[in-house]
Amino acid sequence: MAQKKICFIGAGNMSRSIISGLVGSGYPAELIQASNPSTAKLDALKRDFGILTTTDNQAACDWADIIVLSVKPQLMQQVCEQLATLPLADKLFITIAAGIPAARYNDYFGQQIKLIRTMPNTPTQLGYGMTGLYAASGVEQADKDLCQQIMASGGETLWVDKETDLNLVIALAGSSPAYFFLFMEGMMDAAKELGLDESKARLLVQQAALGASQMVIQNPQLSAGQLRQNVTSKGGTTHEAVETFQRSDLKGLIKQAMNNCIARAEAMA
Ligand code: NAD
Repeated sequence: MAQKKICFIGAGNMSRSIISGLVGSGYPAELIQASNPSTAKLDALKRDFGILTTTDNQAACDWADIIVLSVKPQLMQQVCEQLATLPLADKLFITIAAGIPAARYNDYFGQQIKLIRTMPNTPTQLGYGMTGLYAASGVEQADKDLCQQIMASGGETLWVDKETDLNLVIALAGSSPAYFFLFMEGMMDAAKELGLDESKARLLVQQAALGASQMVIQNPQLSAGQLRQNVTSKGGTTHEAVETFQRSDLKGLIKQAMNNCIARAEAMA
């Protein structure tokens, strides 16, 4: 990766995940800086990754070539306005905040900035993340490449052409780890009621989930439906369980949940 200076405005969970991935992939720690009002998280980042830290957002932004805006959405306007007096034309902004449309950042800064919106999910902290990316107009390919390299340190990336498609990214990847957790939670609760020890149930469920995921990843020529059918013989145990889900229209419920997720994302914009 070209050696650009990167600062993170907001040193919370997501920044920590991305910084961990960056440093782990060999990006020089002295080219990374985090800014946060309180020092506890900064001290931990300095200790764990050797990066630079500050409590001064303006100084961090002035120093950096790339600024990752990583505060909660309700604080974003205030943070951007604080940076607006700096020369920003040559800087690339990457935002990970949910909901705020790209055009609104130009209002916050009072000028046209180069901005890429990203939508990571929590497994980014383990390197198994999935991040959707959308470049606002005026962002050059070289900047898109830089952003992709930064976010790829936490897992897979996918560019979307339309900003509204970021809401699909939320429904399919941003929020969906929780869907899978819910499914696993249900299985483990049922196992407990059936008398199985909690740690044994957890091992069985987590390994099955990992294995199913790997079956999908390693068989790209087979649809998920085909993989399901391959292990579902008529009259067998799996068939009995799957039919139970089908009778309650599990797929319809999933679709409804995703539509509601998208509607919520649209309402937050
Ligand atoms: P977080 O609360 O862990 O981190 C936010 C940090 O910002 C905190 O350390 C806070 O002290 C700091 N902060 C507050 N005011 C500040 C200011 N004026 N200047 C600089 N820093 C300030 O939140 P997070 O989970 O890391 O989320 C950060 C952003 O990432 C949010 O916009 C969220 O929508 C987005 N996001 C989070 C996830 C997730 O799974 N956590 C996923 C996708 C996107």
